[in-house]
Amino acid sequence: MADSSVPRPSDLSEDSPHPSSCLPLACSQPQPRCPWKEVTVPVTSISSCYSQATTLQPCPVHSWATCHVEQCFLSWFRDQYPCRDEYYNVTWFLSWSPCPTCAKKVVEFLEEYRNLTLSIFTSRLYYFGDPNYRQGLRKLWDAGVQLDIMFCDDFEYCWDNFVDHKGMRFQRRNLLKDYDFLAAELQEILRNPMDRIDPNTFRFHFPNLLYASGRKLCFLCFQVEREDDFSYNDSDRGVFRNKVHPWARCHAEECFLSWFRDQYPYRDEYYNVTWFLSWSPCPTCAEEVVEFLEEYRNLTLSIFASRLYYFWDPNYQEGLCKLWDAGVQLDIMFCDDFEYCWDNFVDHKGMRFQRRNLLKDYDFLAAELQEILR
Ligand SMILES: [Zn+2]
Ligand SMILES: [Zn+2]
Repeated sequence: MADSSVPRPSDLSEDSPHPSSCLPLACSQPQPRCPWKEVTVPVTSISSCYSQATTLQPCPVHSWATCHVEQCFLSWFRDQYPCRDEYYNVTWFLSWSPCPTCAKKVVEFLEEYRNLTLSIFTSRLYYFGDPNYRQGLRKLWDAGVQLDIMFCDDFEYCWDNFVDHKGMRFQRRNLLKDYDFLAAELQEILRNPMDRIDPNTFRFHFPNLLYASGRKLCFLCFQVEREDDFSYNDSDRGVFRNKVHPWARCHAEECFLSWFRDQYPYRDEYYNVTWFLSWSPCPTCAEEVVEFLEEYRNLTLSIFASRLYYFWDPNYQEGLCKLWDAGVQLDIMFCDDFEYCWDNFVDHKGMRFQRRNLLKDYDFLAAELQEILR
């Protein structure tokens, strides 16, 4: 179900020029009124106040006049503070988190200003189901940007410092509605995929079951080997998981593919990739994997799935057949695979592996998969 307040990608034109009205405003001045939608106030603590109202929805008068506030800020800052060596502390309060293009520009900006620290407090996460947007946020994080969801104090600070409140008292009512969800989501986005998963998570999400109620997440444990050395190191293993929210579709497989393309840009090298999945891929992910394999000609992929996702549905069956035809090795996770996962992807703190309850419906699922691929 789509939230109508979430703008569509077509609403934003990344390349459109900055309108000439893109100027910082003094706090005392009234903010420019936009009849359709007024959002996003990035702010720097060093200037008196920098605020820029912009439209995130197509504007009936001049829809070409979209200007991402982050880029407006960067260009204003370069102009205002030409000295690259000074120490700056910059804080932004954003109504929407940055898009991938802005994230990239911010990272470049931080390479320019070596002594600048940037903290971003965002009220909402923009397209957080899209792997590219997630990757953008991760890149900001890796570049040392502090990222957080706006909480009560931040709203109050904004009210006090950037809002022409004419003495009206701050009220937190309605401001924190989805804070918990967004904070958890951001944490997951910024989670290092190389971190191991909790033993209880593994025990709950990985058993071979025919009916697995309550398992609405899909976990993907991956291992990447490169032909040249074939010696594993920690950076070649990790875990992705899919999203909880119904309209934030980002399957674990897609997270992996976007991470891999970023991490291993060389399409000609020889790679050996292994996935251990709690659920087998859906038709859409299967298609994406097939495209990915056409890109990386020297990559072999083996998928060990614990359970078959909608195995009775012909579309899902076809997806698996397409993977098989594209040369993907497909199998149901068996005892050794579970033990391998326990040893390599679970934060087991020395606890011994136990196969109990993991193989309940193995025989049925293995026969079913064989039948599908026949
Ligand atoms: Zn942007
Ligand atoms: Zn999928």
